[in-house]
Amino acid sequence: MAARVIDGKAVAAAVKERIKVDLAPFEEEAGRVPGLATVLVGEDPASEVYVGMKIKACEEVGIRSIHRQPDAGIRQEELEGLVAELNADEAVDGILVQLPLPDHLDSDRIVATIDPRKDVDGLTPVNAGLLAHGTPGLTPCTPAGVMELLAHEGVELEGAEVVVVGRSKLVGVPVARLLLLANATVTTCHSRTRDLDAVCARADVLVAAVGVPRLLGAAAVKPGAVVIDVGVNRLEGGLVGDVDFEAAAEVAAAITPVPGGVGPMTIAMLLHNTLQAARGRTGHSS
Ligand code: NAP
Repeated sequence: MAARVIDGKAVAAAVKERIKVDLAPFEEEAGRVPGLATVLVGEDPASEVYVGMKIKACEEVGIRSIHRQPDAGIRQEELEGLVAELNADEAVDGILVQLPLPDHLDSDRIVATIDPRKDVDGLTPVNAGLLAHGTPGLTPCTPAGVMELLAHEGVELEGAEVVVVGRSKLVGVPVARLLLLANATVTTCHSRTRDLDAVCARADVLVAAVGVPRLLGAAAVKPGAVVIDVGVNRLEGGLVGDVDFEAAAEVAAAITPVPGGVGPMTIAMLLHNTLQAARGRTGHSS
């Protein structure tokens, strides 16, 4: 294997240490720690694992977590009411509604109910709009984690050819926007892209956020490229990414593993956003 493996766990640990240091002066000035509310509808096992990891990470750094878990049959108006309650709660700085929601609920409408100042997932129309305008407010956690990893690796983005595979509101679109704001030349691919491998093979930095196990192999990787694999796909043998790790690692200069790459960064950036939201709401700069 030629490529350097980018250790997302180590970078996430460093981000968490930084947050711990930054929390102390906030607590001193504000007289309290920041609070993150997690809302999980129903008992989907994968979502329970994800939310559990987020609550544990809050405990690790010293952020208070408030958990609400209404049952899967909750009505749209009731869930919107719960979000409104959390919007009004002075001790809550961040609100995270775990997605996906059960089919009878309109996720976009629920997300739009969140006070943009408490939108630590960065998914409300206000924060998405600010990012589109080039003045980011709260930035979606996974895209922010990708940028943090690239910065940590010292990857020069200015003028670089970057290809993002995927155009979701959650990952593809915001990460492409952040990369453009970093002055990269960004191409976004999706399910209708012709000759995906050839487009990807132009990239100095390849970001895969697709949800198709091992879609991208050696033919999609330019020799010496940096490969960031956001994909998390559950197969019988365990979790795999959207990139064929073994094959791509023969060609790339650096690559993130799955698990242990982007995943830990998403949680670290959620904590970062919670502190940012708390500072923004209280006016405490430290
Ligand atoms: P999504 O909403 O399903 O979007 C997938 C995107 O991939 C779409 O834009 C789709 O194109 C595109 N696509 C699908 N099949 C394709 C193909 N064969 N060729 C090219 N493009 C294709 O998924 P998402 O929420 O962005 O998540 C993507 C992956 O990241 C998933 O594996 C998810 O589990 C993972 N994820 C990981 C984290 C983390 O913390 N590590 C966080 C969030 C998501 P169209 O738009 O044309 O349909």
